[in-house]
Amino acid sequence: MDPNNIGNISRGRSNGNGGLPQSILKYIPEPIQPIFENPFFAAGFGLIGVGSAMALVRKGFQTSMVQARRYFFVSVEIPSKDKSYHWLMEWLATKKTRNTRHVSVETTFHQNEGGDISSRISFVPSVGTHVVMYRGRIIKVDRHREKNVVDMSSGNLWESITLTTLGFKRDIFQRLLEEARVMAAGKEEGRTIIYTSAGTEWRRFGHPRKRRPIDSVILDRGVAARLVDDVRRFLSNANWYTERGIPYRRGYLLYGPPGTGKSSFITALAGELQLSICILNLAGKNISDNTLNQLLASAPQRSIILLEDIDAAIHTNPNGSSASSTTSTSSDSKEQTKQQQQISNQYQYQPSQLTWSGLLNALDGVAASEGRILFMTTNHLEKLDRVLIRPGRVDTIEQIGMATGYQVEKMFLKFFPTEMTMANEFRMKVPSDSVSPAALQGYFMQYSHDPKEALNNYQQLIKQ
Ligand code: ADP
Repeated sequence: MDPNNIGNISRGRSNGNGGLPQSILKYIPEPIQPIFENPFFAAGFGLIGVGSAMALVRKGFQTSMVQARRYFFVSVEIPSKDKSYHWLMEWLATKKTRNTRHVSVETTFHQNEGGDISSRISFVPSVGTHVVMYRGRIIKVDRHREKNVVDMSSGNLWESITLTTLGFKRDIFQRLLEEARVMAAGKEEGRTIIYTSAGTEWRRFGHPRKRRPIDSVILDRGVAARLVDDVRRFLSNANWYTERGIPYRRGYLLYGPPGTGKSSFITALAGELQLSICILNLAGKNISDNTLNQLLASAPQRSIILLEDIDAAIHTNPNGSSASSTTSTSSDSKEQTKQQQQISNQYQYQPSQLTWSGLLNALDGVAASEGRILFMTTNHLEKLDRVLIRPGRVDTIEQIGMATGYQVEKMFLKFFPTEMTMANEFRMKVPSDSVSPAALQGYFMQYSHDPKEALNNYQQLIKQ
């Protein structure tokens, strides 16, 4: 391109040779004025000017858009860590979102009473922007997934959903989330939610199970009613505890041989009192003093914490400080040594291990205002240190033993409800405390269509 042409075209506005106009040049120091008289430089300078002006306009537009959005729109962000995230996802799965061509699949499993598993596939909005109508309002749904941030509780990439709509008030979102919550709660009605530990957090285990009726677990006469009443009284007595400054918690220990219904009863109890249940396996590798402490402190509201086979947890104690101790330990010197061991445990570095003192500290931890109900089970009461089962840690101890005559008869009637006489006869034939209710259940299932056979073959049961 001929530089003179540029000069000619811009003549009249510039200094006469294509550079900057005199009116501007006079503000530039004289020694550097020749640079600005150069037509190429002047053209570049012009372009920069236009570019900057455009950038300014764009910036201004963006800022005013942000301001407008702040002023005219309301939004709410729901992180995947929050409970309402899942309610919202389920709610969205039932709605027709615009942009329905982009959806993700969520497969859920459901186990029925007979143990059969059925699956359900639902479509939820995939990562990106979607639009949904709610009460005549247009709601923008932005599902966002972080690329590098992992939600430690679920192991999934961190996600969030942002809902945006035109308006000044956020109550539309409150309504929407409430609707989603009620929808999710409806699905959980008559069901027991089970949680298991994942690191230091509780994670839902499978889908809520249909509540097990409390009378389907047959304990010895009066035992179930006593326990149910005790927990009920505890739940309705929060004030009594606060007024006296006593930590609002209660511990129960059920002990007895395997297959006697300890776990089944606790699950049924949770169903009866509409509580959820948090199951913790203390023998698990990832349970350390710290995780146990955090888990006990952060159990969901209205739940029972179940520590199964507590004696196994003590076996995992690396120092074995209490594995050898028994409830009959009574001498002062033994007590002293034990205490010393406990103190040394506390100060020893044991990565990812549960120590005896850690377990006791966690049990003594701050109880939540809604109350903490802790159930522990063991097959070996004699292996438990009495320090663990002292009042405040364990307030009620109940033996759940082999089937008594009462249970034998009741179990018979559970399978053959009209056969009262046979049930009584059966009770006379099967010695008390000789079989477990689990064994009885297995036996009756074998003869489930024939009560006479069940009665006559009792020898087979006793021989087991
Ligand atoms: P535990 O926790 O004492 O080892 P479980 O509760 O796991 O026993 O019982 C194992 C199985 O036996 C379950 O299927 C349960 O239904 C049945 N069972 C055990 N005890 C009873 C009982 N007392 N009444 C009814 N069923 C029982």
